[in-house]
Amino acid sequence: MQESGEIRFYLFDTIQLKAGERMNIQIPGDVGDLLNRLDANGFEAYAVGGCVRDSLLGLSPHDWDIATSALPEETERVFADRRVLETGLKHGTVTVLCGKIPVEVTTFRVDGAYSDGRHPDGVRFTESLKEDLSRRDFTVNAMAYRPETGLVDCFGGLNDLESRTIRCVGNPDLRYREDGLRILRAMRFASVLSFSLERETAESAVRNKALIDRIAAERIREEFVRLLCGPSAADILRKYRDIIAQFIPEIKPSFGFDQHNPHHSYDVWEHILSCVDAVEAEPVLRLTMFFHDIGKPYCFSQSPDGTGHFYGHPAKSAELTEQILTRLRFDKKTAGMVLALVRSHDLPLSPEERCLRKRLNRLGEKNLRLLLQVEEADAKSKSLLSNEYLETLRQVPGALDRVLEEGQCFRLSSLAVNGNDLIDAGIPKGDSVGKALAILLDAVVDGKCGNTKQELLEYIRKKGGTGWTSS
Ligand code: ATP
Ligand code: MG
Repeated sequence: MQESGEIRFYLFDTIQLKAGERMNIQIPGDVGDLLNRLDANGFEAYAVGGCVRDSLLGLSPHDWDIATSALPEETERVFADRRVLETGLKHGTVTVLCGKIPVEVTTFRVDGAYSDGRHPDGVRFTESLKEDLSRRDFTVNAMAYRPETGLVDCFGGLNDLESRTIRCVGNPDLRYREDGLRILRAMRFASVLSFSLERETAESAVRNKALIDRIAAERIREEFVRLLCGPSAADILRKYRDIIAQFIPEIKPSFGFDQHNPHHSYDVWEHILSCVDAVEAEPVLRLTMFFHDIGKPYCFSQSPDGTGHFYGHPAKSAELTEQILTRLRFDKKTAGMVLALVRSHDLPLSPEERCLRKRLNRLGEKNLRLLLQVEEADAKSKSLLSNEYLETLRQVPGALDRVLEEGQCFRLSSLAVNGNDLIDAGIPKGDSVGKALAILLDAVVDGKCGNTKQELLEYIRKKGGTGWTSS
């Protein structure tokens, strides 16, 4: 009785669409086979969550999740002939390998209490798909689909997709209190999909922002980076800046900070947002733009005529960025690149070969090319006065290609002498060799000395005098 009541409820609550009628859910063959196998063994099984959302939006899902009435051990039995990984047995998840695609198959479940505001204390399996959907975060993520049934949409997800709305399933205050990460997930989805947060979902997110304090740094980091890389990142950062300041309080002084400078049409925060928008949606670049001027308010001074200055702000920005990236547990490689770019973002670039060799020497080719993008975004986001510099920057890539093609020397490994050559020429073994190599590299990069063995030895002989040479 209970069960048939549940089924009737579905039919009432489910928007039944014939496959292909107004949506374009094309389940990959392998995933369809999994659904069929579960079905043939007497279990309900649906594609669920992000893959349904993305399919309805006409995007291609990057992975497929299946929700099923089968218990994990039953799923394992059904797929005894395949590779099955017990990825999250405790939470009802096993991963079935479909060729090379791993598909997560999770038993319908409801989460227990969330006493820590992060994880459910436990999960309870259920036979009800609706119960499973009700624990999911947003209506657009709480839809399920299988070809025979069509779309199962108990919470108005399809409507919200159509109006491009992120809305919590249920009461937002309660849902955020269960898991504070949902506040950042809401912002991330809005940024990535260019959606808006429904009013209560938004107001509650701001009201409950302190819940983020309980979330593991890694999870905050992941959502923050994805948010930053969305096409509507600037818009979402602007609307929810107080939530961002909850885990990056160092950004607060930038909000509305007047630069008192004719080169800047925007306050510091609006300039940052404009830069984020102006650069390619790639983590290192977006992070660099977000952080590049965070140190400005800490370095502000004014000349007697009232003009604002920010001497030393790249170093201050890098110092703050390092603290923040460490706190958010960024990997060394990403942090290293972002810090190098933040620290260098004000270094003048020009198509002049000497300048390019110097920059190559300091940054390497990869970071220099990134710096070029950083400086372009920065210049575009200042004022009309920076147009001239933009013009200069446009000439850099061609000049850089030439310097590299010609194999011009900008690092020790391409210097025409090595340590042994210098020792042979009379420089004593030890520190002096390293010092002399550094002097020579500097001279070559600077254009003061040609990169041939003869010229270099001659140069160092003159430089070092008798201090270095034994003769
Ligand atoms: P993407 O993979 O692009 O991030 P997604 O919607 O697939 O999007 P996942 O994090 O892979 O997101 O999670 C899969 C599904 O699990 C979601 O669609 C949602 O239904 C549910 N979900 C994930 N995280 C949460 C959470 N913190 N609270 C409630 N439901 C969640
Ligand atoms: Mg997913």
